[in-house]
Amino acid sequence: MTLHNSESVSQAEDYLTKLQNEVSNFALTGFGTADALGLLAAIMEYTPLMMSFIDTQFRYVLVSRTTAEYLGQQPSDLVGRSAFEGRSETAQFLRPILQEVIDTAQPYLARGVKVPFSAPQPDDQSGRYWNFSYTPVLGEAQQVIGVLTITEDVTEQELRRRQLEQVALQEKARSAQLEAIIGSVSEGLLVINPEGEIILANQMVDEILGRPMLGQNPFRDGPAAYNRRRLDGTPMRRDETMSARVLRGETFADYRFIIETTRGEDRYVSTSGTPLYDEQGQLQAGVLLFRDVTAQEQQLRELEEAKLATDEAQKALLDLAAAAAGVTNLDQLLQQIVEIVPKVTGCDRVGIALYDSKTELLTNMAVFGLENEQQVEEWKALPPSPRDRTSPFDKHFFEEHKSLALDIEQLEAEARKRGEELPNPYGIKTMFALPLVYKGEMLGMLTLDHNGKSHTFTAREIQVLEGMGRLAAIAIQNIRLLQEANQAATLREANRLKDEFLSLVAHELRNPLTAVQGYTQMVQRRLRKAGIPEENLHPLETIIGQAQRMTRLVEDLLDLSRLETGRLELRVEECDLAEQLSRAIETYTVDNTTHKLSLELASGPDHALYTGQFDCLRLDQVISNLISNAIKYSPEGGLIRVRLTRRPQSQSDLLADKAVEHKEVIHLSIRDQGIGIPVEQQAALFNRFYRATNSRDSGLPGLGLGLYISSQIIHLHGGRMWAESAGEGQGSTFHFVLPL
Ligand code: ADP
Repeated sequence: MTLHNSESVSQAEDYLTKLQNEVSNFALTGFGTADALGLLAAIMEYTPLMMSFIDTQFRYVLVSRTTAEYLGQQPSDLVGRSAFEGRSETAQFLRPILQEVIDTAQPYLARGVKVPFSAPQPDDQSGRYWNFSYTPVLGEAQQVIGVLTITEDVTEQELRRRQLEQVALQEKARSAQLEAIIGSVSEGLLVINPEGEIILANQMVDEILGRPMLGQNPFRDGPAAYNRRRLDGTPMRRDETMSARVLRGETFADYRFIIETTRGEDRYVSTSGTPLYDEQGQLQAGVLLFRDVTAQEQQLRELEEAKLATDEAQKALLDLAAAAAGVTNLDQLLQQIVEIVPKVTGCDRVGIALYDSKTELLTNMAVFGLENEQQVEEWKALPPSPRDRTSPFDKHFFEEHKSLALDIEQLEAEARKRGEELPNPYGIKTMFALPLVYKGEMLGMLTLDHNGKSHTFTAREIQVLEGMGRLAAIAIQNIRLLQEANQAATLREANRLKDEFLSLVAHELRNPLTAVQGYTQMVQRRLRKAGIPEENLHPLETIIGQAQRMTRLVEDLLDLSRLETGRLELRVEECDLAEQLSRAIETYTVDNTTHKLSLELASGPDHALYTGQFDCLRLDQVISNLISNAIKYSPEGGLIRVRLTRRPQSQSDLLADKAVEHKEVIHLSIRDQGIGIPVEQQAALFNRFYRATNSRDSGLPGLGLGLYISSQIIHLHGGRMWAESAGEGQGSTFHFVLPL
């Protein structure tokens, strides 16, 4: 007898003698050597393996104790019985295999096979995992006489292995997923180790910074390495870097700074960072996310700058306008100008010197920002300085009338090289010099500096300053002319200048106002969309309301200037005044619940009666001016009656020197129950800037432009406008007629 698979035979040799006796107890058929059999029997008894020896009819010849226990039997009970008795499912699987081993005399080995094993073990229904080893045993004549089976229940190991495999698989999937996520996030993602070395970086990082960051150590290299700066451009300290913060254990979000790429471009980045700890609380790594916010920051900066510039410039322009309008003394005006300029640019010192083109001398006139009155007096007492034609700036300034930004420190250094000394009693470092020019004539020079500090003048600053320079020059010239106003011609010129000034101011104000309105409305819409409660949006409403009021004011100023220069033109089309009035009243009723408004169509309800060829938009302007005045100048609850009639033209409808043309007119009147108008002032109301004494005393704001513009619009239509009031406190009625 030969055992093909005899690994355990030698180990079991010792048992042989001891067990010889027992062997004889087994019923054996058909094979020879008792020694070999004894050996096998001994193995069967003591092996922890499930073993058996089966004959070619699949009957047990020898069964190991473990196998018998597994089947819930004694080994002796099993001998001679079919190995598949009562286990049809197992048989279905194993019988063909055994048969093949017997037929071919080839061993069969399998690992981790799931077999439905009908045995009184838990979970057997679902099958268990087995390692099988079936070895054919050959008899003397080399024919197969049986099969030695070794079976091992590896269910636990197998399940565990499968589980591990599953976990590994999931882990793999997860890390692939993580990698995909990290790779695809639109933010730069860095992971640094506790030493600050970058151990992971996605592609976005390299894209933003324009360089491969993996393996770099920006923490060790310090902020200078990539020229990292704070938002204001100042250098960053080592402990302010994102890696330093996260390695200190800080968590932060939207921390912004500037970093330079390899191409030398500045990137604004918004960063957030989180430290990662292990179970012992040891810092293991830092995760840093960053986003390129360059475009956003630049936009913010521009907006900020534009806003600052427009806010300040607007205010300064208004101040200047007020100064020019109210001041008739040149010294006063110049003083006002030097005080307004620092508000626009944030400089510390401003001076104005006037220029006399005949003597070519600049005389100090007004200064702001000196330490005390004595210094001011000394400055003013300095002898006039002559134009210096040898200076490299002379042509630029005095002939081309261009402004100059001068680096005085550098000029001093250059002079020193030539062995000269530049007098600089005020310790100026950088200076801006602005020529004040009107119609090609040099009136003076405005200089400003930052009191011993150097300053880079931005393009925006220069633009605003030059705008102010133009205005200041007009105002100066205006006052000069006024001062010489003994001739009518000069006066007219002065007036014309005032108009020109007015229209310049209005134009300068209009664009920023539109921008303010537009931006504010946009912000309002966005906040509303974001669900910000309506009451928090009130300040925006106020801004919009104020901006609208200012726009109205500016429009009035522009209309004024158009009227003065004859540039206000009508766009005539068909207008239904009854319709326009009812629409206007409707709008006012919606916005204003304090007054009652009524409309009477006195000549009948047919709108055709009140339809004619007019400038509808301009008439809307007149109507809204009259209605808003009636509301403004009458107490709450007051009744405002609007009346529209169509009637034949009469002499009183006409301005002087006109003949009645037997036309028909449309006559509109608006009567209120308000403060009324002192009788002697009624005719003057239609002069520009005129306000009745009682309205001025009432504290109600107003410029006195609306009625002037309205009456001029009616005049352009060939009509007339007038006011009626029995006196103060008696209410007022405003009328206009339009010839059809
Ligand atoms: P503003 O109202 O801005 O002063 P207007 O040109 O519209 O300018 O009016 C000029 C002046 O006419 C007012 O300041 C006021 O004295 C007077 N006025 C206009 N409408 C009325 C009214 N309904 N009742 C009393 N006074 C009025």
